[in-house]
Amino acid sequence: MRRRLAAGNWKMNGTAASLSEMDALIEAHLSPSVEILLCPPATLIAAMASRKGQHPLAVGGQDCHAAASGAHTGDLSAQQFKDAGATFVLVGHSERRTDHRETDDVVAGKARAAHAAGLVAVICLGETLAEREAGQTLDVVGRQLDNSVPDGATGLNTVVAYEPVWAIGTGLTPTSEQIGEVHEFMRSRLSARFGADGAYFRLLYGGSVKPSNATEIFAIPDVDGALVGGASLKAADFSPIVTAL
Ligand code: 13P
Repeated sequence: MRRRLAAGNWKMNGTAASLSEMDALIEAHLSPSVEILLCPPATLIAAMASRKGQHPLAVGGQDCHAAASGAHTGDLSAQQFKDAGATFVLVGHSERRTDHRETDDVVAGKARAAHAAGLVAVICLGETLAEREAGQTLDVVGRQLDNSVPDGATGLNTVVAYEPVWAIGTGLTPTSEQIGEVHEFMRSRLSARFGADGAYFRLLYGGSVKPSNATEIFAIPDVDGALVGGASLKAADFSPIVTAL
């Protein structure tokens, strides 16, 4: 009922030469049973979308502005990502929350803009190490979930990615029990708010996912896929993660 999703976030990495990694990924998964999403830097979206042709690989942005258009130098709207060939956009990534001081309100506005443009919003959230060590993980995740996911979100237009800040790019991952606890919590919180539709939101885990830990992570209940950073840059690393899903 929830199609599994392997999402790659290239962050600020990649040039036109990197498109060969997408070619290799497509070659390795000619008729994928799971959904595959690549979020390259904005400069590569149009090239990636046209180069993939009819292959069922989705392309997404890494952030969008909350406004549809206007005087926002350097920003890009959800509509522009759609125009370039994207069908998804990440919003609220911890690097955006930290580097650009994005609040839950800002993230919700971006998710609303994504929905208005017809894009699927991948809303990212997760606790810091200090918050986990203070026993605040579920409080923080609950608050981010309530305030970053806008009204109007559905299982079709929204994916939630749980990415503990301390697991991103560090090689550290939570235990399966810790991931399972947060995903079960998010599922019940979404169900309490959205009723039966809460069961349809796909919940991704992100943070140091690699071929060696993917199988264990994907076996955790309510983990519907992964949001992968470093290991999505090379098809040789990302492909086994797709296969594990
Ligand atoms: P890493 O997989 O490199 O830890 O990054 C995770 C992430 O931030 C994906 O959005």
